[in-house]
Amino acid sequence: MKIETLAVHAGHTIDPATGAVSAPIYLSTTFERDVEGTYSRGFMYTRNNNPNREALERGVSLLEGGEAAAAFGSGTAAVMALFQALAPGDHVLAHVDAYYGTSRLLREIFLRWGLEADFIDMSNLEEVKKALRPQTKLAWAETPSNPLLKIVDLAAVAEIVHGAGALCVCDNTWAPVLQRPFELGSDLILHSTTKYFGGHCDVAGGIVVAKKDSEFFQRVRAIQYSGGAVPSPFDCWLILRGMRTLPWRMRAHSENGIKVAEFLAKHRKVERVHYPGLRSHPGYEIAQRQMSIRSTGAQDGLFGGMLSFQVNGGGEAAMSVAAKTKIFTRATSLGGVESLIEHRASIEGPGTTSPENLLRLSIGLENADDLIEDLDQALE
Ligand SMILES: *Cc1c(COP(=O)(O)O)cnc(C)c1O
Repeated sequence: MKIETLAVHAGHTIDPATGAVSAPIYLSTTFERDVEGTYSRGFMYTRNNNPNREALERGVSLLEGGEAAAAFGSGTAAVMALFQALAPGDHVLAHVDAYYGTSRLLREIFLRWGLEADFIDMSNLEEVKKALRPQTKLAWAETPSNPLLKIVDLAAVAEIVHGAGALCVCDNTWAPVLQRPFELGSDLILHSTTKYFGGHCDVAGGIVVAKKDSEFFQRVRAIQYSGGAVPSPFDCWLILRGMRTLPWRMRAHSENGIKVAEFLAKHRKVERVHYPGLRSHPGYEIAQRQMSIRSTGAQDGLFGGMLSFQVNGGGEAAMSVAAKTKIFTRATSLGGVESLIEHRASIEGPGTTSPENLLRLSIGLENADDLIEDLDQALE
């Protein structure tokens, strides 16, 4: 099946009891035991498993082409489970431009628990080779990265990392559907489903998808139900509902994204635009290969709805642009139908690598002309 068809149907079944086309939400925390003491229907206690969570996990693993998935109450809880599945002394290779919360987890929690980590620029393959150690167990690739939209060559990184006997994780939060990490060699995929999967800024969640139902994934699964950072049945239902329109939304986000990026690139008050769909972007060629919906026959890349740009005149000038937008809402997060604008440096605080004059945009599903007009008046 093509990706649009999978997105609509994966994880969904007609309810056998009632014929309901949209799945019921199973709020029950506990499930009946058979007279013999077994659980023939497969459910025992909602932290261990729940029909809505099982449907979500099945749906997302089918969409990504994996064998198994484990859903969590937030993207960060899913990241946490991947690190907890490692052991003290293991070494993690992470992207210097990785999601701020991911590097903070490594630095503030897992270093104290005995993990070792190096933060390198994964778009530079020589750096990846040099940073590998005999203890390296996991490499964390994130592309496009936050907030500079750097592009990591997933296939090349996976090959290098596998050569050293380590696993490769791709945080695919920013480009679901557009990027097929398992086809490019990644072993595990992480999504913050709070973003594009949910798609409407109204539900938090995260998921780990495994290409193979390996021993490592079984540790993640055990952390999910023993650790208990599980999503509620309603949240699972909302995320699976959001997934039904995901390929079409990603296409529309990308169409708007390139239009806004091209407008900003020509604007005299803009110093620099970071968007992998612009030919001037250093990762353009890799992105053109690695980001698209090829099943539609499209030869061109689709580069997603995230971009950032630097305003002439420094931090204050950037803040004043964000203060003047009318359609873009000043808020963090991304991936919803509504466009957001964010001054990253002040959100991340001390230690941020984000330039002071940088604004990050999550391009929504409004008409691109309205978004461009809004940015134009805010930049004046
Ligand atoms: C938001 C985000 C996360 C964390 O997800 P939460 O749902 O906020 O916990 C992880 N990685 C990326 C790339 C993100 O954008």
